Amino acid sequence: MPGRDPYEVLGVSRSATSEEIRAAYRKLARKYHPDVNRTDPDAESKFKEIGEAYAILSDDDKRARFDRFGTTDDQGFSGGGGQYAGGDFGDLFDMFFGNMGGGGQPRTRSMARDGIDVQTSVKLSYLDLLNGAKKSVDVDLHVPCTSCNGKGGEGGTMPEVCASCKGTGAVSRIQQTFIGQVRTQMNCPTCQGGGYTLKNPCKACRGVGVVTGKVTREFEVPPGVDHGARLHLSGEGGSGVHGGRPGDLYVRLLVEEDPRFEREGTTLYGRVDISFVQAVVGADVTFENIDGDVKFKIPAGTAPGTQLTQRGAGLPPLHGGRRGDLVVTVNIDVPKSLNEAQLKALKEFAAASGETWPEGSSGFLGGIFGKKK
Ligand SMILES: [Zn+2]
Ligand SMILES: [Zn+2]
Repeated sequence: MPGRDPYEVLGVSRSATSEEIRAAYRKLARKYHPDVNRTDPDAESKFKEIGEAYAILSDDDKRARFDRFGTTDDQGFSGGGGQYAGGDFGDLFDMFFGNMGGGGQPRTRSMARDGIDVQTSVKLSYLDLLNGAKKSVDVDLHVPCTSCNGKGGEGGTMPEVCASCKGTGAVSRIQQTFIGQVRTQMNCPTCQGGGYTLKNPCKACRGVGVVTGKVTREFEVPPGVDHGARLHLSGEGGSGVHGGRPGDLYVRLLVEEDPRFEREGTTLYGRVDISFVQAVVGADVTFENIDGDVKFKIPAGTAPGTQLTQRGAGLPPLHGGRRGDLVVTVNIDVPKSLNEAQLKALKEFAAASGETWPEGSSGFLGGIFGKKK
C-alpha cells in the first residue's frame, strides 16, 4: 500500500538536508514511541509511519527515486514473472494506481490510471537569463510498454472486470455475531481491491502497461527567471495507462554562478578595478557584461567603493520587457610592491603634499619597502 508523502510525515521541505531530516525524525520518534506515548492510541502506527518515511529520506537512492516517481518501489516495472492476482502484484497495483478510497455505493472502478509527476532540474547561464533559452533534459519516466502496447496482458490482451466483485474492488461478508448479523466490507481477495484481473500479464511490464525509460524533453525557458524557479510542463511526465492522463514534468531552474555578477531581480552588480592614478585623474574603463563590454567613465577623484550605473544593461523582467540596470562598484588596486622609480616618485609626491614619509616605521609602507633594496 502506498504510504503518505514521507516529507509530509516528517514535516520537512523537499530541499531539507540530511541533518534536518535526521533531526525531524528523532523529534517525532521520541514523541510517538509507543513506550513513551501511551495516551495517543495512534502512536504506534504513527511511529511506524515515521520510521518508514525516514527509511526513504535517509537513503539517497530511495529519496531520489521518490522524488522522481512519487514512490520508492518500481520493482514491478523492471520485468520478471509474477502473478497478477497474487498479493505481490495486488500491492504493486495499489501502489502505482494510488489509494482509491471513498465512501458511498461501491461502483465499478475505472481502469484508467493517471501517470506520475516527475521532477528534474536544468542549469542556466546569465546569457540564458538575458535571452531566454531552448533547453532539453533526459529524464527517467514511465513510457508505454511496447510488448503489450500498454494493454498489460501478454500479446496485448486487456485486464477483465473481476468476476468476484464485479469490478467494485470490495466484497461484503455477513457474519453471525452475538449482536446479530453484521455486514462487513473488505477488499476483494481475488483482485486485491483493484477491480480487474489479468490472466496472462505481460512479462515486460508485469501487467502494468508502462515501463521506465529515458526520454528527452525539450522546452523553452523565458528570460528573467529566478534561480530555483520551477517550470511546470503539463502532461510531459509519466504515461498514464488505459486512458489515464499523463503526469506532469517539473523542471527546477538553476542559475550557474558567474564570478562577474551578483544579481538582485533585474539589477546586476559587478566590480571594476582601477589604479590609484586612474582614481586621481579619472579614466575610461570597460566592464565585460553578459552581452558585450560596457564603458564607464571614472571621474577624477573617485573614491573606492563608488558605484556607477549603466541603465538598461541589467536583466529583463520575467517574460521580457525593459532591462534593469548594471551597477559596478569601483575598486582601487593598491600596489603590493614598488620599483625604485615608483618609490622615488611617490616620495616626491608625499613631499609636495607636505606629508611626512613614514620611513623605518613598522607600518604598512615601512613593512613593504623595508624589505626592498
Ligand atoms: Zn507490457
Ligand atoms: Zn475483485
